[in-house]
Amino acid sequence: MEKLAYHSICTPEEWQGLMRASLSKALCKEIDTFQFDISPYEDSWATFFVHMVLNCCGKNSFELDKLCRFTMSVKKNYRRVPYHNWKHAVSVAHCMYNILQRVQGTFSELERKGLLVACLCHDLDHRGYTNSYLHKFDHPLAALYSTSTMEQHHFSQTVAILQLEGHNIFSNLNADDYEQLLEIIRKAIIATDLALYFGNRKQLSDLQDAGALDINNQTHRDRVIGIMMTSCDLCSVTKFWPVCKITTNDIYAEFWGEGDDLKKMGVQPIPMMDREKIEEIPSGQIFFFSSVAVPCYRTLADIFPTASQLLKYARENLTLWEKVKQASDGSDLDQAAPSNK
Ligand SMILES: [Zn+2]
Repeated sequence: MEKLAYHSICTPEEWQGLMRASLSKALCKEIDTFQFDISPYEDSWATFFVHMVLNCCGKNSFELDKLCRFTMSVKKNYRRVPYHNWKHAVSVAHCMYNILQRVQGTFSELERKGLLVACLCHDLDHRGYTNSYLHKFDHPLAALYSTSTMEQHHFSQTVAILQLEGHNIFSNLNADDYEQLLEIIRKAIIATDLALYFGNRKQLSDLQDAGALDINNQTHRDRVIGIMMTSCDLCSVTKFWPVCKITTNDIYAEFWGEGDDLKKMGVQPIPMMDREKIEEIPSGQIFFFSSVAVPCYRTLADIFPTASQLLKYARENLTLWEKVKQASDGSDLDQAAPSNK
């Protein structure tokens, strides 16, 4: 247990350091933009999260020591995989913060708290493998959770951290609110399973076409929260081109790791996971942008016009991927693509 705790619970130095940390005024201003890239500020990622939570939910929304312990232990429970890591967690929470700041009055304090925490925790303990890989090789997690396997695990890890001593940032809530909050977090984390996104987006756009979308209807509200979670999860495609491009490398590094393992077991991976098919990245990205990312941000922008910048930036990067494909067929991405910065 001691050994386990060493790897999963933050030290007093870690959470106390976070309590003392602060951010410059200039940085606080930058954080309030969708395109802010957190990459150069690794030492401050936890501070960013605490700042965003207090700014969005109120200075007294949490006991600061608990919030800092919770944040640092969440950090500790992300693995050093190329993409689904601590940096991704904070980036996703950052995008959610920016959406929430632009739709003020739409979500309750309980929902805002739940959504920011859900974003930070949504990939906890990710091992760099897809659900389909875990199922193919009968991983114990696949036996435990038959659908949305990793997402159910991310939620269960979230609850486990909340239950650690001094970590329950929601302990001041009454039993009803606590239960409601865990449900908000659970539904939000499960919604990051991309397999569920397609049905959710279709339902939302049908509701919109029929003029029937009612954010006060709980089922509709869950769907809206779902599309917000997908929008945040994919937000690297909405950053300035160089940032978008570098993150693509991280994503493929993880996919290729899975592809290598598949090959070792005699299974031919799909082109996206095959490092021998590097030249197919631009066409793969164009397909991903046109069939997943851009429709997602279009639906979000239809619901929340104040978040339409995400759609604009995703479209710009789609155009740049198309230029990359035309110019070089993927052989020299950096030279081929003009910068949109
Ligand atoms: Zn994610």
